[in-house]
Amino acid sequence: MKRDEDISLQRGAKLLLEGATLAMDHCPQCKMPIYILRDKTLYCATCDVKLVREKEPEQGNDPSSKDSNTEKKVKVAQSPIQEKIDSLAEQLKHETDPERMVELAETIKRLEKIRDS
Ligand SMILES: [Zn+2]
Repeated sequence: MKRDEDISLQRGAKLLLEGATLAMDHCPQCKMPIYILRDKTLYCATCDVKLVREKEPEQGNDPSSKDSNTEKKVKVAQSPIQEKIDSLAEQLKHETDPERMVELAETIKRLEKIRDS
């Protein structure tokens, strides 16, 4: 029994266990079937060399992610001051306490001044 062949078979068996597969190609040196390792490397277990396939099937890096959901939403930008004024005006509507009414009215007035400045 050839010792080298034995070793290569052991190597091959180990590679297969590790998830490698047998390639259709044969080693240009020893004409033995070569293995494709999990990282897509071609490897000859007999020669213990890594091989490079001449026509490497390039995986097209084409991230054709379709972003068709880029709907443009036009948001009416309302100033935070205006929002406060509206909210205070709403409170004023329901306010029954005269002092509080004046307070709200004055706050609104002040805010309007700031808004318009
Ligand atoms: Zn070989």
